[in-house]
Amino acid sequence: MSLSTDVIRLVVGMLIGMILPRIPLLFFTRFLNMEQGLPPHPDSVPIGIPLVQRLLLMRRIHFMCWITATLPLALGLWILQNSPDPFAFGMVAGVSWFAISRIVPEDIEQGFGILSMSVIKSVNNLREPETDCCEQAEYYWEVRSIRCKQCRFVALEHPRPDLGRIRSDGRLKGSLRVLLMDGRSIFPPSNSSVVSEGSKLLSKIAEEE
Ligand SMILES: [Zn+2]
Repeated sequence: MSLSTDVIRLVVGMLIGMILPRIPLLFFTRFLNMEQGLPPHPDSVPIGIPLVQRLLLMRRIHFMCWITATLPLALGLWILQNSPDPFAFGMVAGVSWFAISRIVPEDIEQGFGILSMSVIKSVNNLREPETDCCEQAEYYWEVRSIRCKQCRFVALEHPRPDLGRIRSDGRLKGSLRVLLMDGRSIFPPSNSSVVSEGSKLLSKIAEEE
């Protein structure tokens, strides 16, 4: 077998290893009818029971991805035991990449996983906040944070993750985006993210000099 076919087999294996675990995320959300309860994408989502229920469901679907990840991993390892096949190696590497991207947290304070329980709890607490920002407080999850619709007060600095709504950019493009971002928002988790901390530190050093 030539080197180029080996490389192609490796890449195809890797793609399968990366895409297969994310199938539940695409199938259960985009292709089953889950559009009730929440406003259509990309509108802001009101904080309420439908949103909390959807977050819990999305968390379960994210866990389901681990189950589908075992299939290409087991198959890849089984083939590798018998022969050093580039396709199988690619598949194992793809699943490993999926696992690493899930295990390594973007922000340690926000907890592990794409939708951590601490974030869901914070959102749930906002249904009945202890102190209201204004008289007619109405919280909505916007792209970057949860804010009051009336006075624009930021109640929770956390970008909105993928909620399984059919994306406004269409099924194909939307699915590709979900695959690439793994259901995360394209924005960093909060002001305390590594990137913004780094840029803050840099500007501080620049000021001192
Ligand atoms: Zn308000």
